[in-house]
Amino acid sequence: MEKILEVKNLKTYFTLKSEKFGAKPEVVKAVNDLSFEVNKGEILGIVGESGCGKSTLGKTILKLNHKTGGEILYKGNEIFDLDAEDLKDMRRKMQMVFQDPFSSLNPRKKVGTLLAQPLLIHKLGSKEEIDVKIDKVMKEVGINPVYKGRFPHQFSGGQRQRIGIARALMLDPEFIICDEAVSALDVSIQAQVLNLLLDLHDKYKFTYIFIAHDLAVVEFISTRIIVMYLGKIVETADKKELVNSHLHPYTKALFDAFPATDPKGRENRDPVLMGDVPSPINPPSGCYFHPRCPRVMDKCKLEYPELKEVSSGHKAACWLY
Ligand code: SF4
Repeated sequence: MEKILEVKNLKTYFTLKSEKFGAKPEVVKAVNDLSFEVNKGEILGIVGESGCGKSTLGKTILKLNHKTGGEILYKGNEIFDLDAEDLKDMRRKMQMVFQDPFSSLNPRKKVGTLLAQPLLIHKLGSKEEIDVKIDKVMKEVGINPVYKGRFPHQFSGGQRQRIGIARALMLDPEFIICDEAVSALDVSIQAQVLNLLLDLHDKYKFTYIFIAHDLAVVEFISTRIIVMYLGKIVETADKKELVNSHLHPYTKALFDAFPATDPKGRENRDPVLMGDVPSPINPPSGCYFHPRCPRVMDKCKLEYPELKEVSSGHKAACWLY
């Protein structure tokens, strides 16, 4: 399989100024030494609770955040080393769909103008060609092009997210990062938008990174899944393998949080995940999950378990394996 993206030992840290005079600044390790690859045409899901660093990771991959260390190679080229021209070219190919379409779409601009913007910035096509493209892409995402003269607030939440997707499609991307792209939508609308993303994937063979806190959503759309906890990957495997044979107690807790329709499905469940994600400024010693883990052992409090391959393509960071 052709690798399209390689992330090697990526770190994104943020320094917070301390409010106490003379105190050392605090460092948030939002993305803490992550390595993974994305193959051309796959849908890689990244799941974890809020604050686990998954959105920071998505933005860092597109150079919308700084990086503190490590490498991000897109087709073998380090994104942070690209000159202005190559970065512009890369931005054409790599697009992002954001969580909140309302705040990512300028409310004072009509939808047709919003969709034309990327092509105008990249100087792609005449006015007529851009108009034709807008109509084509609007149809593609299920919005009648006659509405291109409307403002974003004149559309429903689901339609606005379709417009957000349309804007990403205007530049014929090959790689799309969807950051909590359906989280703000009702469940029935979520399903429609997920199906639209899958139809577009089938048609154009895009590569997606799909970031969400909702495991059900990630399970539905992804071909492979990474589970993140406090800036680290704790487990990764193909979707089927992860669903049927997840290993890490945190992944198990995420699955156990699903409502079980069959009472037998409630057997072998660990207690529901207790407490909040600890602060990434002061992560717990040893395994970051140990204060919440039902299977914690003495060793877990002392040493961080590195991510290791447990079976082919299935990796977990846990002292149980
Ligand atoms: Fe739980 Fe220990 Fe595994 Fe961490 S290393 S997930 S604390 S069993």
